[in-house]
Amino acid sequence: MPQPRVPVSSSPSASASFPNPACDRSSAALDRARERIVSCECCPRLRSYCGRVALEKRRAFRDETYWARPVPGFGDPRARLLIIGLAPAAHGANRTGRVFTGDGAGGSGDFLMAALHRAGFANIPTSHHPDDGLNLRDAYIAAAVRCAPPDNKPTAKEIANCLPHLEAEIDALPRVRVVVSLGRIAFEAYLRLLRRRTIVVHQRPEFGHGTAHHLPNGQTLIGCYHPSRQNTNTGRLTTRMMDEVFDRVRRELVL
Ligand code: SF4
Repeated sequence: MPQPRVPVSSSPSASASFPNPACDRSSAALDRARERIVSCECCPRLRSYCGRVALEKRRAFRDETYWARPVPGFGDPRARLLIIGLAPAAHGANRTGRVFTGDGAGGSGDFLMAALHRAGFANIPTSHHPDDGLNLRDAYIAAAVRCAPPDNKPTAKEIANCLPHLEAEIDALPRVRVVVSLGRIAFEAYLRLLRRRTIVVHQRPEFGHGTAHHLPNGQTLIGCYHPSRQNTNTGRLTTRMMDEVFDRVRRELVL
């Protein structure tokens, strides 16, 4: 059982993600982006919801102190692969403070991490708590929205509010060549970022699982169904489908 965590001014992931000296290259820009995320209060509805969830708790976690702050990205500052998720889970990342972490055995974190492990981007195939030893190599995981939304549904305004945080993290990841969006909201958020930067994409990319788009900024955007239990339990997203996405990522990175 993970130890209770006391929210502090920076994410546990910032210190727990790079114990390996080979990965210990966290940049000041990335640290600043993370600090701004953790202290953000732009969306009253989401901040209030995260706090309420942390007080009420789920029975299984009643002895833990929830993170209950916005959740910054996690991974290798020298990543060439950026993965963009939707938002923290109320009793997952909102509890543990690390993206795709702690949403239960067989949850989205484990499904994603198992795929990243098979593809050589993660050192272990699970993501249970910030002290589990998980390291990402050449990959970084961020999200379109950094606070857990009720019913996993952020509003358009909340997504827009959070875009600068994604932009700041991307700016601090200069080696990114491939972006995998987990779900349509992440896909659209990334395209919106391109528009903010006046990067013109002549033929508007359509979200589709496994569909890759080569963009004018030199990056490749690949769509992937979100590994939510709703998708993985119904077979809409299978292990094989996930592996095909990361096989494609690997091919893009060696081109
Ligand atoms: S969702 Fe993003 S913009 Fe809104 S409060 Fe959380 S971190 Fe800030």
